[in-house]
Amino acid sequence: MAGQDYDLFVIGGGSGGVRAARMAAQHGARVVLAEAAALGGTCVNVGCIPKKLYSYAAHYADAFHEAAGFGWDLPPPRLDWGRLKANRAREISRLNGVYQQLLTGTGVEIVRGWAQVVDGHTVHVQLATGTQNFSARHILIATGGTPSVPDFPGREHVVTSDSMFDLDPFPSRLVVVGGGYIACEFASIFNGLGARVSQLYRGEQVLRGFDGDVRHFLAQEMRKTGVDLRLHTDVASVARSGAGLQVTLTGGEVLQADTVLYATGRIPNVNGLGLEAAGLAHRRDGAIEVDSHYRTSLPSVYAVGDVTARVQLTPVALAEAMAVVDHLFGPARRSMSYEYIPTAVFTHPNVATVGLTETQARREFGEVSVYRSEFKPLRHTLSGSDERTLMKLVVDSASDRVVGLHMVGPDAGEIVQGFAVAMKAGATKAVFDQTIGIHPTVAEEFVTMRQPVAG
Ligand code: FAD
Ligand code: NDP
Repeated sequence: MAGQDYDLFVIGGGSGGVRAARMAAQHGARVVLAEAAALGGTCVNVGCIPKKLYSYAAHYADAFHEAAGFGWDLPPPRLDWGRLKANRAREISRLNGVYQQLLTGTGVEIVRGWAQVVDGHTVHVQLATGTQNFSARHILIATGGTPSVPDFPGREHVVTSDSMFDLDPFPSRLVVVGGGYIACEFASIFNGLGARVSQLYRGEQVLRGFDGDVRHFLAQEMRKTGVDLRLHTDVASVARSGAGLQVTLTGGEVLQADTVLYATGRIPNVNGLGLEAAGLAHRRDGAIEVDSHYRTSLPSVYAVGDVTARVQLTPVALAEAMAVVDHLFGPARRSMSYEYIPTAVFTHPNVATVGLTETQARREFGEVSVYRSEFKPLRHTLSGSDERTLMKLVVDSASDRVVGLHMVGPDAGEIVQGFAVAMKAGATKAVFDQTIGIHPTVAEEFVTMRQPVAG
């Protein structure tokens, strides 16, 4: 393949793109990466990281409130929203620099500009100084996703999660539309930070796709924290009224808000990428079609991460990127398993889960045993909080394998990450039972549940 300037051209400097570029460069490949915005992509700039920082900020509200029960007298706390935003922005720019360092340190060339696929070996980049064509043996598309907002009267007045981190002023009254990850997380976070939050979801329960018990339990806990969660609720229109917004529901009721957040899903970022002209196959929603090795309809072009709209999570984009690099430059051709991918929703309280829901497990295995524990954690015996925790195991009766593990409670993500290893390794309920707990913790409950629920 003489004549091509690079071994790999990566489009997009987010989770998947950066990981692929630097791993490929470590294998000795000549790599160039194009990024049109800030390095680090969604996760670093407007996703996981700033979201988790704000979630920590919101948790302080609980801690201040609960401190009295542990003997602390504190002056009434007050949030300095401007300081939180400034500190977050400083940390995010530090991370942008770290990403740049990771790339240049391994010899990846970075080009700043919008990239377009011309054909299987050519990428056209719109640079600040003009345009340039690059030729490469392989192209990797890792352009991520972008928020999708439905059409309705007043759509121009609403914001997406991209704008939530820098709102000015702080929204005292927030309406959140949606019932997925982002809607639930932002409803919890802004409620914790002191906003009056109404969350409107069109369906019968939030977090479609999660275990039924988890969904109902979370809804109940979120309501206890003060989120006005309304199910079977749709927006008819949004209009500006004075300094605020007026949200009219299809039932006729009107809500007043300072900010309306639409968290109604994300679609692949393929606009202006040149897919049609290059002859690259994609689905109707724009998702680039790939085979089990992430190869698109053009054999030298690969795609990973949110742009393929499979599992929209950072660790999945990272794992897919590494599979592509191993395939192209590494020792082995391998594909990635999508079974037992753990995930957390950083609501208050957190949700985390790995494996099958009870319904999925019953469908797949027929007979399952379910272990369920709901309790008030030790910390809340003095804190005054009425928050409760839910832990649940789903076991395939025939093999005794634990096929689903679910939690709603503090640090659920931290706890479930560890159990995900055991589940991936095929741990049975007998192995869970033989495991000694760490006392006193919440996590020990997962190894001490003995009595399946009836039915
Ligand atoms: P991205 O990280 O989106 O990167 C794509 C990059 O490509 C962007 O930088 C973009 O500017 C660039 N780009 C696009 N088109 C072009 C072009 N034509 N030319 C040049 N550059 C281009 N996941 C988790 O696992 N945990 C979480 O807690 C979590 N929280 C989230 C919170 C929010 C609010 C959001 C929105 C997402 C969250 N996610 C979370 C999902 C996670 O951010 C994504 O799954 C992940 O970032 C996908 O990585 P990616 O590499 O596919 O794309
Ligand atoms: P989700 O797909 O999780 O949720 C979208 C929500 O919007 C659903 O409740 C959906 O309802 C609702 N919805 C869709 N269309 C409409 C409409 N026209 N009108 C009203 N409601 C509508 O998407 P998010 O935007 O919350 O997040 C995108 C992805 O980003 C997530 O799926 C996840 O993969 C990732 N993410 C991960 C996080 C984490 O790991 N902690 C955090 C944030 C994002 P219905 O269920 O009825 O379809």
